[in-house]
Amino acid sequence: MATLGHTRHVFGATTRASISRIHCKRLLTKTSRHSTRTIHAQAQEFLQSNQPDWTESQRTVREAIAKICAKYPPEYWLKKDNDHSFPHDLHQDMARDGWLGICMPSEYGGSDLGISEAAVMMQTISESGAGMAGASCVHMNIFGLEPVVKFGTEEQRRKFLVPLIAGKERACFGVTENTGLDTLKLQSFAAKKEGDDHYVLKGHKIWTSTAQIAEKVLILVRTTPLDQVKKPTHGLSLFYTDLDRSKVQVNEIIKMGRAAVDTNILLFDDWHVPATDLIGEEGNGFKSIIQGMNAERILIAAEALGLGYAALRHASIYAKDRVVFGRPIGKNQAIQHPLADSWMKLESARLMVYLAARLYDQGYDTGEYANASKYLAAEAAFEACERAVLVLGGNGYAKEYHVERYLRESLIPRIAPVSREMILNYVGEKVLGLPRSY
Ligand SMILES: Cc1cc2nc3c(=O)[nH]c(=O)nc-3n(C[C@H](O)[C@H](O)[C@H](O)COP(=O)(O)OP(=O)(O)OC[C@H]3O[C@@H](n4cnc5c(N)ncnc54)[C@H](O)[C@@H]3O)c2cc1C
Repeated sequence: MATLGHTRHVFGATTRASISRIHCKRLLTKTSRHSTRTIHAQAQEFLQSNQPDWTESQRTVREAIAKICAKYPPEYWLKKDNDHSFPHDLHQDMARDGWLGICMPSEYGGSDLGISEAAVMMQTISESGAGMAGASCVHMNIFGLEPVVKFGTEEQRRKFLVPLIAGKERACFGVTENTGLDTLKLQSFAAKKEGDDHYVLKGHKIWTSTAQIAEKVLILVRTTPLDQVKKPTHGLSLFYTDLDRSKVQVNEIIKMGRAAVDTNILLFDDWHVPATDLIGEEGNGFKSIIQGMNAERILIAAEALGLGYAALRHASIYAKDRVVFGRPIGKNQAIQHPLADSWMKLESARLMVYLAARLYDQGYDTGEYANASKYLAAEAAFEACERAVLVLGGNGYAKEYHVERYLRESLIPRIAPVSREMILNYVGEKVLGLPRSY
């Protein structure tokens, strides 16, 4: 089997202190020092960091994360996928070096960096061969507690953010229900009697990732029935609380890919949640959660990109090595051109992802670029993964060659956290001014 060159690069050291240094540097330099690079011989290499458009802090993140990920080659992820076992060791490595708080405030142990750096981190994890499994084991930490940062009290921020960033607690994210993308119709309900110090939750969630191992859940429920609110966005409330397994039944959904990171149905009744775990004002939960959604789309887009580049790397190395009819298959344009086309599509999507990230960090808060980046990156990644399988022929279908795993995982960013169709609906309505179609 072709080697993937994991050891070809030497990366700089990563410590919590160096992350703070990144922050300082970031203030000094938003443009790249390295204006030149060699052309993408890099597409066959593991985690090049000299993208001409990246800032110094993005390069530093790239190199540091690549160094961690080099400990976990694609064979590690194949085994995790086969064993259905959570990658605790990567999660702990990321926590130990301070990366779980990359976007969190420094007073709680975070690094105060932006989505521009977090996207590099997620792309790099995924691109290392870890794919969506590697990215998903830390994903929730990066954007998930944004509502706590923005709307939590000082006491909540200290209590919830510090252990999450330190890797001592893990959180899952419970929004989706059987009502699907029609989120405002969700049915789970929290009631509180006058004078009580707790809410009582009843209902269900579906597709809650990492609930098998999480100690905490960020959960959106109704506190005022839909028919009693002025607008459907009103009357929803957000809690960040212990995932109390004596009251919440957690049933795993056996799924197509990303088996290392579980996904679940949660069923709960008579679940007492302290009123002190309410994040923001009662009834304003949707407003709180929407804050993190553009960031999440950008991060998922970056993860998709990583998967696409990983597939492209495997395919181009294979196409150079594999000889059929007396010549490398990569000499055939029917093999070479689709890979070249995928590189261009991934790079185009990458420019959109990092534009969306930069705009987000600058305070731009409408969703067209974040949505477009998720759409474009997911489509480009899916196509690259499918092409990689075909380039490898029969071996593409064999688990030991990894690309079939990437193809299975590449469906996730097309579906979640919002589908392709809903992104097209959004752009049709908000950008093109067409009538709302749903
Ligand atoms: C691996 C995985 C992990 C996930 N992890 C989490 C998690 O941790 N937490 C969480 O809360 N959720 C999670 N999700 C859920 C995910 O966000 C949803 O699956 C996604 O939002 C789509 O919702 P749905 O599956 O209910 O699709 P549905 O709403 O049932 O839609 C089905 C299809 O119909 C289309 N459709 C529906 N309405 C329209 C319309 N008006 N116009 C055009 N097309 C339409 C959709 O685009 C989609 O293709 C996860 C999902 C997956 C697959």
